[in-house]
Amino acid sequence: MLPPDNHVHSEYSWDAFRGSMEATCERAVEIGLPSIAFTEHADFSVSTLPADFVLPEQWEPHTVHHDDGRRVLTPPDIDLTGYLETLERCRDRFPQLRILSGVELSEAHWFPERTADLVKRGGFQRILASLHSASLRDEDYLDVSWGFKGSHPAAVYRGYLAEAVRLIEEFDGFEVLTHIDYPVRYWPHDRVGFDLTEFETDIRLVLRTLARADKVMEFNTRLPLDPRVVGWWREEGGKGVSFASDAHLPENVGKGFREAVEVARAAGFKPGADLFDFWVRD
Ligand SMILES: [Zn+2]
Ligand SMILES: [Zn+2]
Repeated sequence: MLPPDNHVHSEYSWDAFRGSMEATCERAVEIGLPSIAFTEHADFSVSTLPADFVLPEQWEPHTVHHDDGRRVLTPPDIDLTGYLETLERCRDRFPQLRILSGVELSEAHWFPERTADLVKRGGFQRILASLHSASLRDEDYLDVSWGFKGSHPAAVYRGYLAEAVRLIEEFDGFEVLTHIDYPVRYWPHDRVGFDLTEFETDIRLVLRTLARADKVMEFNTRLPLDPRVVGWWREEGGKGVSFASDAHLPENVGKGFREAVEVARAAGFKPGADLFDFWVRD
């Protein structure tokens, strides 16, 4: 039996252009997932887009074009009413699947009031804490995926990991820290090689801080998490592992889970007390 997929996006995430909650549930049943959490994006950071970025037409309504050529993207809020209605409809249609509500909070420590307000209104069952942006000057942010253009990649990833420590220390309202390797997805391999061991100290500090805060580490399979990180998580005292496809398309739900559970098992983790739980230390 596969573990729950605790991090999935639907049409209620602003960057999931072909997302579909119903089609995702259908696929989850087909591949035998016991449970799924729709953790839609709550992104409060506003980004100035890089000059060479090709703006998808779907983002046009959220983008302001300034006279000096700058384009500023403000991600839209979640349509909570539509989201919760669709969730109810899916629960009726797929009784064999446990369907959890959820949210992926981005940089929650920078936006405590807006985050608290959303969480209160949403009543979410799975709350993920994420980092996607790097802080620039003043109120200016930049998605990490774009940050590699101007800076040295190692500095970008170190900055990301240091910010993750601040997130955990300054914000407590979450269960799971997502994708500790998010910047690695966008690594410019043509310019510089990636060597995980260069970042071991920084990654271990994030994991130690997370373990002390009694939170769960996410095993994100979009870029399969390096098995060494799962081992470091156990050594630093980590108790729980949450599996996550981070699917933005129905066909990607539960993707890579068969390999991921083997990695987690080899690192000393096992399924929790029931099918719906996080994995725990063996
Ligand atoms: Zn994310
Ligand atoms: Zn996500």
